[in-house]
Amino acid sequence: MIETVKSLLFTESERETIYECRRCGTGVDSPSSTCPSCGNEDIASFHTR
Ligand SMILES: [Zn+2]
Repeated sequence: MIETVKSLLFTESERETIYECRRCGTGVDSPSSTCPSCGNEDIASFHTR
């Protein structure tokens, strides 16, 4: 159970920054990725807090 809690906390911290295609708004895993939906390379980053 402790491991589960640690995993959840770690996941939350990893989500402080999210990346999203500027053209269509599809979420991507990293700023270096191309959009899986439209192929656009212009990825925006957002801080969730
Ligand atoms: Zn896109």
